[in-house]
Amino acid sequence: MALDTLEKLDILSSDSQYDLACACGTGKEDRRRRGLDGKWLYPVPLTRGGYGIMLKTLLSNACSNDCKYCPLRSDTNVRRCSLAPEEVARLFMEYQRRLGLIGIFLSSGVIGTPEFTMDRLNATAEILRNKYQYRGYIHLKVIPGASLAAIDEAMRLASAVSLNIEAPGDRHFRKLSDCKNYERDIITPLKFMSEQTARGQKHARVKCTTQFIVGASDENDSEIVKYMDGIYNRLKFERIYFSAYQPGLGKADIPGEQRFDLQPEARFTREHRLYQADFLMRQYGFAANELVFEQGGNFSLEKDPKEIWAEWHPEFFPVYINRADKEALLRVPGLGPVNVKRILQVRKFGRIRDLAALGIKGKLAAKAERYLAFA
Ligand code: SF4
Repeated sequence: MALDTLEKLDILSSDSQYDLACACGTGKEDRRRRGLDGKWLYPVPLTRGGYGIMLKTLLSNACSNDCKYCPLRSDTNVRRCSLAPEEVARLFMEYQRRLGLIGIFLSSGVIGTPEFTMDRLNATAEILRNKYQYRGYIHLKVIPGASLAAIDEAMRLASAVSLNIEAPGDRHFRKLSDCKNYERDIITPLKFMSEQTARGQKHARVKCTTQFIVGASDENDSEIVKYMDGIYNRLKFERIYFSAYQPGLGKADIPGEQRFDLQPEARFTREHRLYQADFLMRQYGFAANELVFEQGGNFSLEKDPKEIWAEWHPEFFPVYINRADKEALLRVPGLGPVNVKRILQVRKFGRIRDLAALGIKGKLAAKAERYLAFA
């Protein structure tokens, strides 16, 4: 039976949930939150506060690739369907008019060839930009294997582009897919995206992001952090996302992370630790080589990476809350950028005697007070 546009959108937007690289939130709950009553509308936290609504969908869930962690790979038995570029563009504009969406995130399984798929994604953006004169946010997924010319076209049309790196290095990547080539399909286009968005280049306004699938191979966190360092500091990407591998969705012969076999929920704790490390590198002034790993190269699952760093650096503490600089305060476990900003403001008007005066209470306050002095 033929599906109508909304039925197809229902299937395709639901299948787009595994791709997190669209700035759909920063907390675990945010990232996996489904949208309102319509499954294709996602709440996205705004920098000015509150939420906006983004339409997120695949153009097609048919795929000729074989990524072993992915439920949409070519040999799985899922109901396949596709939306035409015009269908998606028209639907988006209808929602946009009715609900004031803040943008669209478009991805796709590989329909025949990467180039054909990238062209369809680009065609959708082209219709939005030219036929509907839409000037708002468009995020396009870069399809591994698409030509640099097609990626260039995507960057011309989009506000943001993303290409999933998936694994830290060719050795791990090869365990995840027989179809894709790490150097040719991932690293070369990531470098191209970086060059084209460098300051002064023609696509400098376009934001680039990427995503790791975590725990599908036997990579450890220190390998991922090494790549994160390169992605942020050499390629100058905007954000990195992490998606915990979920074995039920993947192929049985994929190695996966052995230590999670007994405690499946720990997969999400590992994902969370990588997000915490990401925040330390992006917002707290930590260098990659300052992060502390356990034997085996992974972050502790019990404590957050900042607390572990503090335990390894007793000489750094106590931090004097009434005179330490912002960078030192940000290293105190339990204090984040919002509370540090508050401390810097409040202490202009008098000495801070405890954290309760700043509204910081409970476990967070107890944790931070172990590392602070109030003199
Ligand atoms: S390219 Fe790989 S990850 Fe993307 S839809 Fe196809 S099988 Fe899944």
